[in-house]
Amino acid sequence: MRYAMVIDTLKCVGCSDCVVACQTENNVPHGYCRDWITEAVSGSYPSVELELRSDRCNHCDNAPCVRCCPTGASHIVEGGIVLVTGDECIGCGACIESCPYDARYQHPDGYVDKCTFCHHRLEKGQLPACVSVCPTKCMYFGDLDNPNSEVFQLLKNRKHKTLAPEAGTKPHVFYLI
Ligand code: SF4
Ligand code: SF4
Repeated sequence: MRYAMVIDTLKCVGCSDCVVACQTENNVPHGYCRDWITEAVSGSYPSVELELRSDRCNHCDNAPCVRCCPTGASHIVEGGIVLVTGDECIGCGACIESCPYDARYQHPDGYVDKCTFCHHRLEKGQLPACVSVCPTKCMYFGDLDNPNSEVFQLLKNRKHKTLAPEAGTKPHVFYLI
């Protein structure tokens, strides 16, 4: 089992419903977020392209945030999901510095927080909140080890990318382009 999220950048309209759903589902404090909308502009006039996408922790296979954590608070669970145990986090911030995606933030209560792929919902057989509310259905979630899964088939048949591949983190979030 290897969980993955696939996001179709050609269908994302940047509405932020995913961001609001995450904040509500996970009690993210006001002014902070576990996911966000990126507007990436590429090319030069007159061939300028705008890519809208929903970004979050990439749940990296090779996660620097886990390697650098001095207490073991940052860890990887079944399915490759990277989590933080708040009680074990001393708030040193090493993981925030190590993440190439700026995916973590310091919670006002002192520990570090980030996307969990809605681990608590997966345990109940539900999709992550962001995936479940997207009005354009541009987000997909499933098991990359299952050749019959939607995520496997999408990555097999569609052109895609990961963010900052040069960082060597082996992300579990993929973008259809
Ligand atoms: S995206 Fe950042 S916080 Fe998430 S697993 Fe990768 S290095 Fe860690
Ligand atoms: S802030 Fe917490 S989770 Fe991050 S490296 Fe330090 S102890 Fe680990």
